[in-house]
Amino acid sequence: MTDRSPQKILIVEDEPDIVRLVKHYLENAGFRTAVAQSGVEALTLVQSERPDLMILDLMLPELDGIEVCKRLRNTPETALLPIIMLTAKSDESDTIVGLELGADDYISKPFSPKTLVTRIKALFRRLERTENHARSSFTYGPLILDPLRHEVVVNGREVSLTAKEFGLLEQLLRHPGRVLTRDVLLNTVWGYNYFGTTRTVDVHIRRLKLKIPLLNDAIISVKSLGYKLADHPPAK
Ligand code: CA
Repeated sequence: MTDRSPQKILIVEDEPDIVRLVKHYLENAGFRTAVAQSGVEALTLVQSERPDLMILDLMLPELDGIEVCKRLRNTPETALLPIIMLTAKSDESDTIVGLELGADDYISKPFSPKTLVTRIKALFRRLERTENHARSSFTYGPLILDPLRHEVVVNGREVSLTAKEFGLLEQLLRHPGRVLTRDVLLNTVWGYNYFGTTRTVDVHIRRLKLKIPLLNDAIISVKSLGYKLADHPPAK
């Protein structure tokens, strides 16, 4: 992530004043920007502009931010696009829904553009850290998964998993705190040519939880979408 052109940020917001302000601050901070003024436009531009991150307002004409987030998470190419949601302070329930649907962070209006820039940089740093760790083994509390040796150890004891169970667990460990939809999991673990249904994912997640009780609380089911691994392993 270090040696490349400045990261591009897609600003999705219909209020011109906010767009102007955010665009100005982001460009001053060295980012490239693109702007979408509706949810529908956001979905188009995300394909043509290929942004590295999206700032997504919740209140949008036609298609609201929640729906946009849902659709992005359900599309393999955009499933992991970092999203920061803009919410109104009064909409706490919307904020929670937004985070459940896989926004990576949120900031409530009115906000200082400087804070937004700080949060963007922090998010990029966080994602870069996870990417850098992707090649070695993954540690999650007492659990260690080693992709090269194809081995999972919990509390020092090896756990025997099937190839699909292992693949699922690896995907979750690669993206802690991020919602992975059933479709995305099916495509990455089973492959695009697999004809099974998304129920297959549920069955395998259940088996994983039976084999590794730690995952009972750690793998969180996100209603109507898929699963995510809690950022941090549950205490004890
Ligand atoms: Ca708006």
